[in-house]
Amino acid sequence: AKSRGDGKSCIFEAVMLLDVIAQRELELDLRRALKTDEFEVHYQPQANAETGLFEGAEALVRWRHPRRGLVSPASFIPIAEDIGLIGAIGEKVLRLACREASSWPSSYTLAVNLSAIQLSDPRLVDMVAETLFETGFEGHRLELEVTETALLRDDARSFENLRDLKRLGVKIALDDFGTGYSSLSHLRRFPFDRVKIDQSFVRSIPSDPESVAIVQAIIMLAEKLKMAVTIEGVEEIAQHQFAVKEGCDQIQGYFLSRPVPQSDIRTLLTSVPEA
Ligand code: C2E
Ligand code: CA
Ligand code: CA
Ligand code: CA
Repeated sequence: AKSRGDGKSCIFEAVMLLDVIAQRELELDLRRALKTDEFEVHYQPQANAETGLFEGAEALVRWRHPRRGLVSPASFIPIAEDIGLIGAIGEKVLRLACREASSWPSSYTLAVNLSAIQLSDPRLVDMVAETLFETGFEGHRLELEVTETALLRDDARSFENLRDLKRLGVKIALDDFGTGYSSLSHLRRFPFDRVKIDQSFVRSIPSDPESVAIVQAIIMLAEKLKMAVTIEGVEEIAQHQFAVKEGCDQIQGYFLSRPVPQSDIRTLLTSVPEA
């Protein structure tokens, strides 16, 4: 039994070592990618639930890796955060997205994700103000999405940043709502313009009564707090119909459209979604 255990741990260590090597390679790759401009932004349109028309889009970063192809943010954002590159990547994404969205008709809004690390950066507000100025994109058309986990750190700086961003006219959305600890207390600490109901609740509606009740309660709560509600991760017609019936403000998900490259978003936004 002993030797078997040893063999196992040997294999385990080898796998760990490979992991470390792969991780290190990814880090070096990420640093290069910043210099060689390998990041691009895709956009997922967001529809007004009442009119059924698109009213804006969320910017979602992609890494066009020379060998691996298009890499999804879930596999590199956490590493970028660990090695201190998220600030630079986030700034690049914001600049690109604001520049590109400047060419959309002026009624359309742009949503951009902020990492927890960016949110607590004392230079964040200046960076956003500068980017708006340089790209000519109007602050009131920009919505920055922060997650509940970003607020968990609970440092004063993050809330100061949120307040100062609102002073620039920028809107703030609370992303992945309902998944973090003490979700409700966050709503009391800051006047968010919007809450985005997490996909995990949406996945099981309308068949699961508990999820239905939670989503209905969030919609009611947000209405009372004068916050708009986006329901995201809508993949099926039944979920779409539920969102409309329950009085959500905005709908986002594969049912209406997957995220598309920059070249396609303008035409998509001005088209009439099939729902
Ligand atoms: P998120 O902000 O919650 O973005 C929504 C994610 O769900 C996107 O994945 C989107 O493509 C996907 N999605 C949209 N509709 C549906 C649907 O109907 N069904 C399913 N199954 N998925 C749907 P994506 O683009 O892979 O991004 C993953 C996460 O990476 C984002 O989650 C966000 O947390 C992060 N991320 C993306 N872009 C950025 C960025 O520029 N900066 C930062 N800090 N994080 C980003
Ligand atoms: Ca988001
Ligand atoms: Ca989300
Ligand atoms: Ca998420």
